[in-house]
Amino acid sequence: MEIVTRFAPSPTGYIHIGNVRSAIYPYLLARQSGGKMILRIEDTDRARYVEGATELIEDTLEWLGLNWDEGPIVGGPNGPYFQSERQDIYHAWARKLISMGRAYADPTPPEKIAEYREQCNKAKTPFLYRNFRPTDTPEWQPGIPLRFKAEPKEYLWHDEVMGDMHAGPEVLDDIILIKKDGFPTYNFAHIVDDAEMGVTYVMRGVEYLSSTPNYLAIYEALGLKRPKLVSLPHILAPTGNKKLGKRDGAKSVTEYRDDGVLAEAMLNYLACLGWNDGTEQEIYTKPELIERFSLDRIQSSGARYDEAKLFWLNGQWIRKIFTEQGAEALYARTAGFWPESAATASDEYKLQVLSIIYDRLKTLSDLRDMTAYFFSDPRIDTDMLINNKFLKKLSESELEELLKLSVARLTALPSWDAGTLQDALNSLLADTGKKPAELFSLIRISLSFAAFSPALHLTLAVLGRDTSLARLNAAARAI
Ligand code: GLU
Repeated sequence: MEIVTRFAPSPTGYIHIGNVRSAIYPYLLARQSGGKMILRIEDTDRARYVEGATELIEDTLEWLGLNWDEGPIVGGPNGPYFQSERQDIYHAWARKLISMGRAYADPTPPEKIAEYREQCNKAKTPFLYRNFRPTDTPEWQPGIPLRFKAEPKEYLWHDEVMGDMHAGPEVLDDIILIKKDGFPTYNFAHIVDDAEMGVTYVMRGVEYLSSTPNYLAIYEALGLKRPKLVSLPHILAPTGNKKLGKRDGAKSVTEYRDDGVLAEAMLNYLACLGWNDGTEQEIYTKPELIERFSLDRIQSSGARYDEAKLFWLNGQWIRKIFTEQGAEALYARTAGFWPESAATASDEYKLQVLSIIYDRLKTLSDLRDMTAYFFSDPRIDTDMLINNKFLKKLSESELEELLKLSVARLTALPSWDAGTLQDALNSLLADTGKKPAELFSLIRISLSFAAFSPALHLTLAVLGRDTSLARLNAAARAI
């Protein structure tokens, strides 16, 4: 039987790390099995609907390379894929339940329901609406909420991640199927849609686990085959025991993109948040993830979100792309991440800069701070030289002399390539008797006035003869 999975987000805001992982596993399972993944937009909660959120979801999935086989944009035989456009379908299924005596229109005003709840609170008994089920119910029509008529009993089921589950009759209740506004609840709509769309694996956050017995009751009443149920563990905030939320800095996925995280790294990181293949491997390409993914290695406990790990992985991916696909391939991804001063620099020059600095980047936006001195002269900060931990021991005149000597030697070089520069620096070191940390820090800082720069001979080579010598001279004068 073909495996059909779905990602069913609600367009209630931006899509953050905690949400998007629920798209990755259905995608991997569908691709691995040659089945299909459906994207369905669950937009029936009109109060929480956010304009533009659907586009953000599509954009995020597209960026991560998680294409869907049916859904918005691509269409498909089971549309519409927006729940708000499926009203007739839900109403038809609701009528089926009514005719079977398993659903009823509930005219009880909300204040009355609040009273029932209060009564139970006072009596310290669990509030179950079925104990207050109205005896006299009108014919259902939109405008009146429609409730399921629960038949309390035990349910056993298997969750692919959580294992064998059991729930007693006390959790079964008369849940609302269709709200007063005519829109279905999530509880009802997802069951109808999954059935209509032929979904075989329902993969979603573990927060739906406690409601599952009520869903099982509806499948049963409608005579539907249960899909396989897969509860994905929570993604936990960096500290404490709560779910990662917007308050914990759960940025939108596209914000990470704008900060220079690569889609490959994001996909890799999120896929491994709560899943592993049993090896120590940390870097996975999408084809590897598709090949290795398995439901039985999804962990059942929460997975902690660790942004530092994401950035580390991103750094690994930057190196991987550079070494496996080439400097140009990485360069093609850097547009928009260079410092403003690089605007007029040539592609060739930026490519050279990238080639000597890529292995220090965690995100592409690091380029902005880490490469500024390649494009404009840095502000001279003599303190940075004089108080440097290696240079402190040297007097100011010694520093000045060393710089002048370096300028003289470098000026005399017949060519300005990395190899020649490396040799020149080595002989300078031998002739002056200074430690590498002293001589090279002096030259490095004089060129960049930055906390970090790539290997000195490479920095000199890329900056070029004129710029390098001018900066060394300027630093000597400033001292
Ligand atoms: N619309 C639900 C959500 O955004 C989806 C749950 C499900 O996948 O069934 O959480």
